[in-house]
Amino acid sequence: MVNAKTNGDGKMSLTAKVVIGLVAGIILGLAINIFGLNPAGGFVDTYITNGLFHVVGKMFVNALKMMVVPLVLFSLICGVCGIGDIKMLGRVGSKSFGLYLLTTAIAIALAIGVSALSGIGSGMNMVADVAFTGKDAPPLSQVLIDIIPNNPVSALSEGEMLQIIFFAILMGVCILMVGKPAKKVVELIEVLNEVMMKMVTVIMEIAPYAVFCLIAKAMASLGLALFAELIGYVVVLIGVLMIHLFVVLPTFLKVFTGLNIMTFMKKVRSMQVFAFSTASSNATIPVTLRTVTQRLGVKNSVGSFTVPFGATINMDGTAIMQGVATVFIANIYGVDLGIAGYLTVIVMAVLASIGTAGVPGVGLIMLSMVFAQVGLPLEGIGLILGVDRLLDMVRTAVNVTGDATVSCIVAKSEGKLDESVFNDPNAGAVFDVEIDHDAEKELASAAKD
Ligand code: ASP
Repeated sequence: MVNAKTNGDGKMSLTAKVVIGLVAGIILGLAINIFGLNPAGGFVDTYITNGLFHVVGKMFVNALKMMVVPLVLFSLICGVCGIGDIKMLGRVGSKSFGLYLLTTAIAIALAIGVSALSGIGSGMNMVADVAFTGKDAPPLSQVLIDIIPNNPVSALSEGEMLQIIFFAILMGVCILMVGKPAKKVVELIEVLNEVMMKMVTVIMEIAPYAVFCLIAKAMASLGLALFAELIGYVVVLIGVLMIHLFVVLPTFLKVFTGLNIMTFMKKVRSMQVFAFSTASSNATIPVTLRTVTQRLGVKNSVGSFTVPFGATINMDGTAIMQGVATVFIANIYGVDLGIAGYLTVIVMAVLASIGTAGVPGVGLIMLSMVFAQVGLPLEGIGLILGVDRLLDMVRTAVNVTGDATVSCIVAKSEGKLDESVFNDPNAGAVFDVEIDHDAEKELASAAKD
């Protein structure tokens, strides 16, 4: 799949290729949709959008997901061992937890404010015709209990992120406590971590093509007409997401770190494209981790914790959707939630984001929990269901940008941000998949011994 010689100096950067894949995919997908080339069961549907594009896209997403668990496990154990100071671990944990909650709360408050001012949905008198049966998000007590796995192997096999984080941190701390005799274990895990990172780099080689397929398929099947009907909701939601992305998060970054916002924005671009095309912050973890550590200069001891933690508990974009959707549906049904109702929405949305993982469509599950709490009709969610796919993509890009922002802030405050890497435009941009043939022979003969 990977040509060892594909990446040379002076070739187009991966980011550029991925962006080209994205734009080309959008154009092709929209063309298929607009010209009606995609009737169910037809040639294009069977062999192209649900055939080739579906297979290539899914294979890529699976490859990314395949990396999440081993990468988080090994890099976090390395990270904890690298910190070498258990007090610092506590500080990194509490700072990132606080910042994640704060940014999420600001995001949803902003969303409620803007959408209340815009009055979206108040002139509409629609009756929901699509039934929505919401699944329950877990209660907070269960979330707390579930942080501790009763079987680490099943936590790993199920990809339970908070449980994996807990196990990895405890193991890292105990490796430190065992001290010298555990040195070999640390060395082994460090090498395994490096191998995992290399696997991510290799997988990324097919990213431009996979992004093209994922986007073309999504765009081809989106009911564009639906967007026109819900234009108020879509415009306000995307507007608030953009304010959060381009004003709130950069302000946080500038105030807490003084780092250059433009440099940050440029370096996170390809990570945002991955989040956008996969609609899953969890599947994007390998890319986020690589971006944060190799492009932005966050040391692995901080990034290995803040990135998977953020993918699980930090969902600014999703919280914004909850805020806008609540106001929109409340207005449609003529329900006045009042200040207390909106405060409940803020608290519920923040809590719900802690217990739910970053996978596609999870925002709708959280929304049903919020609606149930404030007494809005659940079938209201049916109204926005049809346009949720595209909005999910946009809010996931905002979610991962929040994770990267908080990672930089926490790293900077702990002296764990290498600014020479942050300021170097080429840091981590080159994907080195060259094979060193001498090393290859040496390893092969070592393995035979
Ligand atoms: N897809 C989002 C994420 O993975 C969650 C959501 O808003 O549905 O971050």
